[in-house]
Amino acid sequence: MNQSKKKKLEELYEIYFSCGIENPLYIESAKQFVPGSGNPDAGILFIGEAPGEVEENVGLPFQGRSGKLLRNTLKKYEITENNSFITNVVKFRPPNNRKPTNQEIKNHFDLVLFHEIKIIAPKIIVPVGGVAAETILGKQIKITGIRGKNLIHDNTIVIPIFHPAYILRNMTAFSIFEADIKLIKNKLDEI
Ligand code: URA
Repeated sequence: MNQSKKKKLEELYEIYFSCGIENPLYIESAKQFVPGSGNPDAGILFIGEAPGEVEENVGLPFQGRSGKLLRNTLKKYEITENNSFITNVVKFRPPNNRKPTNQEIKNHFDLVLFHEIKIIAPKIIVPVGGVAAETILGKQIKITGIRGKNLIHDNTIVIPIFHPAYILRNMTAFSIFEADIKLIKNKLDEI
């Protein structure tokens, strides 16, 4: 019998939970592995950068201030944990929320994110911010140049959006952020 996506994800994550150097994904001083969450049978996958302090404490992605902004805006367009899946490129919190290194990104992509994407097989991938967009597209990008664009990568629709932490610092860009999410909702309804 075919294993459920949920079960496959649990098996993928469980070998990386330990906080020690035996774990090839461990990042110094991190307190907890933060797996993806939501509905793996959904057609849409949101990918952030890395957990922050709140996410590390709660053990789930996008729970702090930027997470609330993202989730509340998604909810306005009827996108919730019931019809989407949310994860991060990097599953441990980098010290002082520094940007993950290229090596950390590569390890986390090769060992977890690549497999998460294969298991979930989403119709739409939404990289949230520049780090996720570069990881998914496999090249250097400027998020301002590609956000809200309907791209095709590896036969999957990819629509990058600004990171909500950027919106919290530049609230004038909120209307763009919201318009991109509306566009994503329309695309989701259309396919
Ligand atoms: N920022 C991210 O990119 N991911 C989170 O889970 C929280 C903040």
